[in-house]
Amino acid sequence: MFKTRMPITRIACALVLFSLVSCTTIGINRGQFNLISTAEEVEMGNRFAEEIAKQHRFLEVQSIQQYVRETGGRLAAVSDRTDIEYHFTVIDDREQVNAFALPGGWLYVYTGLLERADNEGELAAVLAHEIGHIAARHHTEQMTKLLGYSLLVQLVLGEDPNQYAVLAAQLFGTLGQLKFSRDDELEADRLGLVYLRRAGYRPDSMVSFLEKLQSMARSEPSRLTSFLSTHPMAPVRVEQARGLLDSSTGPDMSVQEAERYRTTVVEPLEKYYGSPPKSDAG
Ligand code: ZN
Repeated sequence: MFKTRMPITRIACALVLFSLVSCTTIGINRGQFNLISTAEEVEMGNRFAEEIAKQHRFLEVQSIQQYVRETGGRLAAVSDRTDIEYHFTVIDDREQVNAFALPGGWLYVYTGLLERADNEGELAAVLAHEIGHIAARHHTEQMTKLLGYSLLVQLVLGEDPNQYAVLAAQLFGTLGQLKFSRDDELEADRLGLVYLRRAGYRPDSMVSFLEKLQSMARSEPSRLTSFLSTHPMAPVRVEQARGLLDSSTGPDMSVQEAERYRTTVVEPLEKYYGSPPKSDAG
């Protein structure tokens, strides 16, 4: 049996190359590049999740973990992909304004991002966007393009835990090199808006959070390094989201949401860290 294992250095080279290559148009034809089955994707995601748990510190404030799980669960339940189990975890790092997802339903959000959201709707917008990537199966699609089908299958079937460790560090989390194409980002936003509506959130919370990130990208880009590398902040994302808002955005719940969000997330985090988050003005 012909057996080969691509050395890690070659995978790393492929990653660097990939990040320089502009992405092709995929449209909304889901699963076009997906030769990986859902079971394989979930298996791969589970293994990556083990590595993420080793490489990051998770927030020990269980009430906030629970709150994010509930918020994300509400969105996942109304998403277009309910054949997998979703897992939502808060990473304890207030310097990073970031969120990311693994293949197979694992989503992570940093405390730095939780502190920058003004209400539950804005957090929901971020989670809905990541669920959009998962629903459209962008992860396995990009990984297939990046690594090639045979290496990806090797990874799924392989017994070498080092491959997962290295790839988890390179593809996900702080380095965040699993870049999605502009079209993938726009599709995740479109799906995210649908899920926000279905779950009863104001869809304009996505616009407000995207605008916030755009202004942060100018004022304090260092905090957004990994987010910007995985989520290109093209103004076209704001434009698209604005264009998709209709006049019936629902009742203005933002005041109640903001109050609830402050007492459930922001104040407990301030207590946990012993100081308020740094302001944009610094
Ligand atoms: Zn994205």
